[in-house]
Amino acid sequence: MPDDTPIPPEDAPTEVSAPPPEPDPGSRRDPAPEADPPAASPDPAAPAAGPDVLAAEVRAELAEPEPEPEPIVPAPLAAPLPAGRLADMVEADRRWMDEALAMAAKGLAIGELPIGAVVVADGEVIGRAFTQEATQGRLLVHAELLALDQADRVVGGRRGRAVLYTTLEPCLMCLGAAATAMVERVVFALDSATDGARELASLWDAHRHARDLPSVYLPPVHGGVGTEASRALFARFIATRPGPTDPLALWAATLVTPAAPAADPPAAG
Ligand SMILES: [Zn+2]
Repeated sequence: MPDDTPIPPEDAPTEVSAPPPEPDPGSRRDPAPEADPPAASPDPAAPAAGPDVLAAEVRAELAEPEPEPEPIVPAPLAAPLPAGRLADMVEADRRWMDEALAMAAKGLAIGELPIGAVVVADGEVIGRAFTQEATQGRLLVHAELLALDQADRVVGGRRGRAVLYTTLEPCLMCLGAAATAMVERVVFALDSATDGARELASLWDAHRHARDLPSVYLPPVHGGVGTEASRALFARFIATRPGPTDPLALWAATLVTPAAPAADPPAAG
């Protein structure tokens, strides 16, 4: 953790004899920045803290009372944008989502789930993939993860200026990868009620705001771009499956025919 508190030189008189005043219990959640504990010195000649010292430090840390957790409040995932920039962004989003949909169609053509993703930075695709579970016989080869991995090899996804486009609401793994890759935004086409992670991420985002950690970045996530095209690909996918009880067909059916909203009460008369 970055800490600008100056560390006194080792030969300076220490000030530990005067204990700091007890903090007000009410201000317990906002402690003043503390100096780093005397960690192992980078000087190889200096003795490093032995296991006993480290264990004592860990025990002391564990003895500290846990601060009360902050209440979890879902935070808005995207800040409003000026109208002009918003219009440009909407047009770009449609164009790049078309690329992601083309990847999904490619996957479908070889028997994969129709899920495609592209990562775009500075107007250029730096990652492009479709889900490859059938081809590779593996489970972690989601389109988004593969595309993010490609982008990460291009100067770390151009360091925070990339946008991930995916034809299906990303799962927890892929949204986690997008956050770790520090993409600027995530745009998806079709909601996935059974395994999409957008809602869960909104809770995570609230934690991030509560702690004010700028190095932990959760990109804004929004859907609804290219929804019908993505839904149509899943309908075609279902038609390729052996039958309606096929597990993947059952799952895809939840995307094609979302659960109906609660029925209206019968009309009187
Ligand atoms: Zn995924």
